[in-house]
Amino acid sequence: MNFELNEEQRLLKNAVREFAEKEIVPYARSYDEKKEYPWEIFRKAAKLGFIGIDMPEEYGGAGMEYVNVVIVAEELSRADSNVGSAVASSVLGCPMLKYFGNEEQKEKYLRSVLEGKTTSAIAITEPDAGSDVNAIKTRAEKVDDGWVVNGTKTFITNGSISDWIILIAKTSDIKPDYKGMSAFVVETDWEGYEAKPIQKMGLNCHDTAEIFLKNLFIPENNLVGKLNAGFYQLMHFFNESRILVGAIQLGMAIGAYERALDYAKQRKAFGKPLIEHQAIQFKLADMWTEIEAAKLLAITFSLTFFNLQFLIEYINSISSGARVVFIGGWKAIVLQELFYVLWCIPIYPFACSIIISIYDSRKDLSKLENKLLVAIGLIFFNPFVVPWILAAIIVLLLRIKWMI
Ligand SMILES: Cc1cc2nc3c(=O)[nH]c(=O)nc-3n(C[C@H](O)[C@H](O)[C@H](O)COP(=O)(O)OP(=O)(O)OC[C@H]3O[C@@H](n4cnc5c(N)ncnc54)[C@H](O)[C@@H]3O)c2cc1C
Repeated sequence: MNFELNEEQRLLKNAVREFAEKEIVPYARSYDEKKEYPWEIFRKAAKLGFIGIDMPEEYGGAGMEYVNVVIVAEELSRADSNVGSAVASSVLGCPMLKYFGNEEQKEKYLRSVLEGKTTSAIAITEPDAGSDVNAIKTRAEKVDDGWVVNGTKTFITNGSISDWIILIAKTSDIKPDYKGMSAFVVETDWEGYEAKPIQKMGLNCHDTAEIFLKNLFIPENNLVGKLNAGFYQLMHFFNESRILVGAIQLGMAIGAYERALDYAKQRKAFGKPLIEHQAIQFKLADMWTEIEAAKLLAITFSLTFFNLQFLIEYINSISSGARVVFIGGWKAIVLQELFYVLWCIPIYPFACSIIISIYDSRKDLSKLENKLLVAIGLIFFNPFVVPWILAAIIVLLLRIKWMI
């Protein structure tokens, strides 16, 4: 497989980098201090076609391969971990519509995000259901012409600023639980929808909300995909969204590394720049190695999204991806003494990056999957393809049965 970016992808990378340097870097700090969603930057990015670059052209997207989403997300988050990732996360509700929405839904809702009119969201997590999606309690009861929904969702990115969200709710008591949930598209100005922003320690211009649904009526046509197939649709969504999250954290790590490198060149200690001390060189070299490894993973599994091989790389990559930001962040901190002052060069990406190991990735669970995969591989004791594919299938089945 060729891991080099092709000409079109290189041009895209350069264009996004130029945009991010000009439109994000100078304004990032002020958005952070105001704790505001960067609407203007989001709209400009949409105008240039950087939002939902993989979405179908007929609804305003660019219809490009998923690897281009990785390129855009990496460059936006590299420029600024807070503003860049907020802009890259504007499309969270879109994949569910792209794959499972009907024509009408795509035309109305997808287009609104791709044209920069609104962000989107997906509401899965509840106060008592995070990693364990099966435990959700939000219910959609069937009535004439639609459903009536009651429940609470929490930690929903873009939940109080978007015009619409994808909502996952229980639609049947059938066992096991994952066979009884469905996805809906909900407009946030409908009666019965209330969202309250949640304060965080980083990602200050991300909107993160608690959502209260009280007798919210959803029309029949707003069911997304098939009734009671929501869990399967969600797994498809996660396959893509975890690549997006990986790309965002990769961009943050690159940004942290570059800032740390600059700082090490400028700051002097014991009569010479920090970078001339060997111990500092070790730290920077370790950071760079981790980043290059994560880059390969992000590009590999975005290119191989629909291959079985993707499963193996994907499962292995999740915790590595989360780790790279931690390592990058910590090493950046070690490089300087003023580390507790926000906006003191390399620290800020670290403060933002802590979150990345929480949402979408569920680090502890990914680690369990990794270990299982390696163990199964060793039993076969064969580096060739078939045992690894079997191992990946077993892990996937176990994961569906036990972990989600
Ligand atoms: C800033 C932010 C944005 C978010 N955005 C969204 C969003 O847009 N939409 C949405 O639906 N959700 C969102 N989330 C929620 C996020 O997806 C959940 O926080 C995540 O799934 C983990 O769930 P939890 O916090 O309930 O932790 P829990 O599931 O309660 O887990 C607690 C701890 O136990 C570990 N653990 C759980 N089960 C196991 C196990 N079987 N074995 C070993 N360890 C285990 C977990 O890894 C974790 O460390 C967001 C969260 C944050 C903080």
